[in-house]
Amino acid sequence: MGRYVSSVCRLCRRENLKMFLKGDRCYSDKCAFDRRGYPPGQHGQRRRKFSDYGIQLREKQKVKRMYGLLEGQFHGSFSKAERARGITGTNLLVFLERRLDNVAYRLGFANSRAQGRQLVRHNHFLVNGRKMNIPSYLVKVGDVVEVREKSQKVAVIADAVEAVVRRGVPAWLELSKNQFQGTVKAYPTREELTMPIQEQLIVELYSK
Ligand code: SF4
Repeated sequence: MGRYVSSVCRLCRRENLKMFLKGDRCYSDKCAFDRRGYPPGQHGQRRRKFSDYGIQLREKQKVKRMYGLLEGQFHGSFSKAERARGITGTNLLVFLERRLDNVAYRLGFANSRAQGRQLVRHNHFLVNGRKMNIPSYLVKVGDVVEVREKSQKVAVIADAVEAVVRRGVPAWLELSKNQFQGTVKAYPTREELTMPIQEQLIVELYSK
């Protein structure tokens, strides 16, 4: 399966948003967005005016990149959100949040979603006591996500758990830090998703 291999800092600069895609570096003075907060490339500093379509496209690209998905995967999540009951835009964000790679990041077992994805793929997690290595697995209320015992000593995981204090664990998840274990207490509400996202623009884009 394809994956994005170029510099992720360019993505933050392109979307004009600090998306915290690189873990520790994002909190340091090496953050490319803090140093050069304008779009990358030769014409990055030119003033740009977006059409309605351009605004919708940028919003979609932003969310897709925030969660580290490719177009097909993102569109798949959107289709699922469309079929589910409720508001499509909110459903989309909730589906994205429920992905196991995101939950691993939110619980502090990884420093970024990309790292969460890699750790899931490398079999470091159990869900309800069973091995789970599918990053797109959608957690359910009551699910217990834990780091496998032998993986608790892996330096990146141990460091990430210590660093989670910096960003905090969202209220819909509960972390037992010493047990390397997290529980899904509820699905996140729209109010709990505080990233600056206008999901309605994505719905409008895909409705064209
Ligand atoms: Fe974005 Fe992090 Fe790179 Fe800063 S360091 S530009 S927040 S990915």
